[in-house]
This record gives sequence, C-alpha cells and structure tokens, in this order.
Amino acid sequence: MTEAVTATATGEIQARTPNHPGTMPGLVLTARQLTKRFGGLAAVNQVNLDLWQGRIHGVIGPNGAGKSTLTNLLSGDLPPTEGTVTLAGQDITGWNPERISRQRLGRSYQKTNIFPAFTVWENIRLAAQSRNQPFAFNPLAWLTRAATHAVVNERAEKALELALLGSRRNTIAGAASHGEQRQLEIAMTLATEPQVLLLDEPLAGMGTMEAERMVQLLLGLKADHAMMLVEHDMDAVFAVADHLTVMVNGQVIASDTPAAVRADVTVQAAYLGEAH
Ligand code: ADP
Ligand code: MG
Repeated sequence: MTEAVTATATGEIQARTPNHPGTMPGLVLTARQLTKRFGGLAAVNQVNLDLWQGRIHGVIGPNGAGKSTLTNLLSGDLPPTEGTVTLAGQDITGWNPERISRQRLGRSYQKTNIFPAFTVWENIRLAAQSRNQPFAFNPLAWLTRAATHAVVNERAEKALELALLGSRRNTIAGAASHGEQRQLEIAMTLATEPQVLLLDEPLAGMGTMEAERMVQLLLGLKADHAMMLVEHDMDAVFAVADHLTVMVNGQVIASDTPAAVRADVTVQAAYLGEAH
C-alpha cells in the first residue's frame, strides 16, 4: 500500500529516491515512510508525501487522522519515530523548527498565534525582523542597520499585500475579525519568505465570505510556493488543491488528483460520504 501512495501531483509514481529527491526540479519537500507513535498509537503511519513548487497539496481526513501530527513532523515541531523528511534536497529529519524555518519552511498553526495588542503591520514587521535574528550578534550588523530595515520593511510590505491585508495595516490585531487574524498569521509566515508553506486548517471557524477571501489568498500564493493545506472545508480544498492526500487513522488511504479522490469509493466510504 505504501508503494501506491507515492503518486505525485502529476499522477505518476515517484521513483524511490530518498537520498536525492531534490534532484527533481520543482520537488521541494518529501516525506518517506514518515511515522509518529505516541505510545501504542501510530498517529502518522508510513506516510509518503511530495510537495511541489507551484502546487497546492491538500491533506484531508477526519478528526484524529494525524493531519496536525504530520504537519508537526514536517516542520520539526515533533521528531518522527521513523522515516525521513527532505527539504530542497537536504535531509532535515530531526532538525529543530528554528533551523528548518531558516531553510525557508513556514507554517501556520491550527490556533491563531498573533500579538493582539500590536497592529497588523507591527505583527508582520516583527515576523519579518525575526528572520534576521541569526545575524543579531554580528558586530557589523548595526552598521548596516538602515539597509537591513529597508529590506525588512520591504519583506513585511510584500507579506501584507500577499495576505490581502493592505487596508488593515493600522488595525489592532486583537480587534481584527477572525478571518483577518488568520490572514495575519499567514502574513507573518510569509514575512519570513518561505519556499514551503504548511497551513493547518486556515479556514477553521470561518464564514462564507471569510473563507472565499482565504481561498483567493491561497490561490495568489500558489505560483511562488510549495504548499500543504490541511483543511476540513471540502468545498475550499477541492477548489484549490492540485493534489489530495486522504488520511485515516494515521495512514494515507488515497493520494491523487481531486477528481480521482472524489471518485474513489474507498475514500467515499471512509470519509467523504460522512462529510457531506
Ligand atoms: P488531526 O489533526 O487529523 O485531527 P492529530 O494529528 O491532531 O489529528 O491527532 C492524531 C492522533 O494522535 C489523535 O488520536 C490524537 O489524539 C493523537 N495525538 C496527537 N498529538 C498527541 C500527543 N502529543 N500525545 C499523544 N497523542 C497525540
Ligand atoms: Mg488537526
């Protein structure tokens, strides 16, 4: 079964090349046989996954399927029990989240994670600045501070626009709507200029209008990123995903184009039938 689930976004079966996956142009992140056990529970069980530049890879499945755990394994928030993760051709298995983040992997969490007392702009600016922290102890850094500020401001400005928050620049984050706070969280991730984006239920708790805006935002990011989108909103995920992985009980039960997944009777029985 694990052989079958290495199908790529283009539908072909990926050659098993765990040591050199980055040699394939556009293949940004890979997981191979990725497994996380919590005691006797395999929350993520032998999962294979490929994220490609310019594609949105949806991950769906019922509550407890292991979607957030998978996200945590890819971002380094949790170490895997077994398996490997590569990013841009480099084996990053077991790296801590900060180190992985510096290799241009950005993620959002299922819960909103912002500084509520600061403005939208200040939140994004702080996130943009945080990327420069590895250089904070460079004695020459203060000499180039003005230049650094310009670069950081530019990065924050770009993130503000990409997250469709240009008109909310001076809004106090805590007073922004739920949807805007989720946009802000994505903006803060974008401010670090990630190549890979892992988004865990960015549409959670949103009304129709907010969800539509988030879909528009995600589509706007697609060309320049490799994205994994964990999502419960089936309409949204089928609207934006180029490839879908379905997880149940830690295992991948299908990994294919959205149309093929929708037509898959196993998936319908295990999940989609219940969701509608
Ligand atoms: P999903 O995001 O698909 O709803 P999760 O990845 O959050 O699923 O959880 C998958 C399974 O792993 C669940 O049964 C959950 O209770 C369990 N789990 C998640 N995190 C932990 C943890 N830190 N310790 C023990 N069990 C966990
Ligand atoms: Mg979850």
